[in-house]
Amino acid sequence: MLAHAQWLCPHCRVYRVCERPAPNHVFHLLMTLVTLGIWLVVWLWIGINAEFRPWVCSSCRGEVEEPARNVPPLTAAVIICAWAILCFSIAMILIRR
Ligand SMILES: [Zn+2]
Repeated sequence: MLAHAQWLCPHCRVYRVCERPAPNHVFHLLMTLVTLGIWLVVWLWIGINAEFRPWVCSSCRGEVEEPARNVPPLTAAVIICAWAILCFSIAMILIRR
């Protein structure tokens, strides 16, 4: 799967549709359910790696740097960790039943 966004291409010098590989979240959700949550580690790893993949201009195929996001990386890391801890806690509660 490919994610699409419109960024200013430094090579074309105009806004172009850019793309990069994106995880298939439906597939990973199904795998997480089938493996009773074990696949969540794989899904998280692939999801985080996908965030660091470069965007590519669909016209000139040159790499495009994504503009700075509103969420600082540290805040994003804290949110991801909190989400992971929450999921782990829910999994542990369900296992102990
Ligand atoms: Zn371009």
